[in-house]
Amino acid sequence: MPVRYTQVSNSILDAVHDTPLLELEDGIFAKCEFLNPSGSIKARIATYIIERAEREGLIKPGDTIVEATSGNTGNAFSMVAAVKGYRMIVVMPEGLSSERVAISRAFGAEVLLTGNFHVNEALERARELGSRPGFFFPGQFESEWNVQENREIFGPEILAQLPDGRVPDAFVHGVGTGGTLIGVGQAFRAVNPDVRLFAMEPSESRTLLCGEVDLHGIEGISDGFVPGIFARHRDQVSDFLSVSSTDAVAEMRKLARNRGLLCGPSSGAHLIAARRIRELYPELKTVVTVLADKGEKYLNDFYMSAAEPASPPLH
Ligand code: PMP
Repeated sequence: MPVRYTQVSNSILDAVHDTPLLELEDGIFAKCEFLNPSGSIKARIATYIIERAEREGLIKPGDTIVEATSGNTGNAFSMVAAVKGYRMIVVMPEGLSSERVAISRAFGAEVLLTGNFHVNEALERARELGSRPGFFFPGQFESEWNVQENREIFGPEILAQLPDGRVPDAFVHGVGTGGTLIGVGQAFRAVNPDVRLFAMEPSESRTLLCGEVDLHGIEGISDGFVPGIFARHRDQVSDFLSVSSTDAVAEMRKLARNRGLLCGPSSGAHLIAARRIRELYPELKTVVTVLADKGEKYLNDFYMSAAEPASPPLH
């Protein structure tokens, strides 16, 4: 049994990592990243990037962290900044779930809203602010540190949890920065050179596959542009799958009602995509994916109405 909850710590950052891996369906393994402090997978890179920047002397007491985000990374850096005493500015578009703005503010961050739904404008603004003295701009969409965290920590954690010496045959994930897909994929490739990496996109906005940019309901992925990480490592991605926002939200609701897993729409989309991989390629017997963020971030948009809405709000 893990011992971490029996030990005393003085920092919530010690509770990042070590999330459960569930076999949700035969051969479909899902990592419960919504259980991380700040409510998403992004607690990992936020902690890693700030602690590495501290070690390398790129950030010092009194500095300000500024990052562009569709929300989860902002929540995560805001938490890390609160723990470590930095000032935090989150730059994000309008039109995303109101909870993610509230969560960053609750951690004491300033939130600058710029652009609508897509992150392009926020990215420009954050980069510009981040170039000023006393500011640190992590640059999650470009940073190789994002890939490294996933390759060196997150990916190996999943490999260690897979039962009976199983190795992954496929990994499927939506692409916000591409850090999770590429970095975890690199870790998996070290144990199975034939592992297939599937990039999942909303069917309404297939930016990576065919350059489309449109509104969709799967917050946190497909932010309106091809991120630098993905562009650099595109050759490592085997296939693309698309899932509609309506199906993603319906599956997300089923996860809550039938499995007790209160997650966001990308989690529903990841499960649908994993199922499709198992159906299309039965030889891929171990498919890994991620339940990336917690459903509390979507209570107003997706969970509060008693009736199932016919379709999710397109922002
Ligand atoms: N799902 C959710 C809910 C996210 O917030 C993110 C990241 N914004 C992703 C998936 C995609 O992760 P990555 O940035 O590593 O591509």
